[in-house]
Amino acid sequence: MALTLIDSAHEAADIWTFRFRNDEPLVWEAGQFVVVEVPHDSPDDEGTTRFFTNSAAPFEGVLQITTRITGSTFKQALARLEPGDRIELKEYPEGDFTWENTDVPVVFVAGGIGVTPFHSILKQRVHDGDPLDVTLVYASGSTDVAFADELEAWQEADPALSIHRVVGEPLTVDLLTGLVPGLLDSLVYLSGPEPMVEELGESLRQAGLPGPQLKEDFFPGYTADSI
Ligand SMILES: Cc1cc2nc3c(=O)[nH]c(=O)nc-3n(C[C@H](O)[C@H](O)[C@H](O)COP(=O)(O)OP(=O)(O)OC[C@H]3O[C@@H](n4cnc5c(N)ncnc54)[C@H](O)[C@@H]3O)c2cc1C
Repeated sequence: MALTLIDSAHEAADIWTFRFRNDEPLVWEAGQFVVVEVPHDSPDDEGTTRFFTNSAAPFEGVLQITTRITGSTFKQALARLEPGDRIELKEYPEGDFTWENTDVPVVFVAGGIGVTPFHSILKQRVHDGDPLDVTLVYASGSTDVAFADELEAWQEADPALSIHRVVGEPLTVDLLTGLVPGLLDSLVYLSGPEPMVEELGESLRQAGLPGPQLKEDFFPGYTADSI
């Protein structure tokens, strides 16, 4: 299915957002991902397709890719796109990194660009008038991060949303339980660079977080310190 670029916008540091429309609105559940192809000449070893979480909210009906523009030929081709240019949707939205109604507290842990599913989920809940009963721990290498203004506005509108920014520090179980004392009795969503999620996920399990209370979203292609 062909997708047409509507516009692109700088978010923060090397992070840009690209919005694509399809002839009919895209349908997905907030937090789900797609696979897209950006055809380009002389692709590097990683090729012309990538997985991306749709960082837009479902009510918006568009595909929104929020990503770091790296030196890969894929990202360079993405960055060169002009409004009206087309890419290919290779796999429709899928994945279970989605909102789950639960009686325990909900904690979102984002490592840098791993914030994309949380942006989609929270924006849809704001739109639906649902409570934002969530603690978000948002870790980054610098203070300049994606979606900072929107998150702040949502927190002002609904103080049940509690946001902890962690800048320039690796996420550890001690740091997280210091910020969120009831963490091990919560439903924890972990999203970010693959090595970071693997390591922190394993540490949380070893610290006693039951398996069913941990949801993980791995973003390959990024190092643990690229948050
Ligand atoms: C479900 C899902 C959702 C995602 N959502 C987002 C998103 O919202 N935003 C976003 O920016 N990215 C997201 N990603 C990651 C995205 O697909 C790319 O991998 C990432 O953006 C890096 O792409 P790149 O072209 O910059 O780097 P690449 O050129 O693809 O990779 C950089 C380096 O990492 C190595 N590498 C790449 N893939 C792997 C791998 N699988 N295992 C080991 N080494 C590898 C490469 O060899 C290369 O040296 C998601 C991935 C998944 C699976």
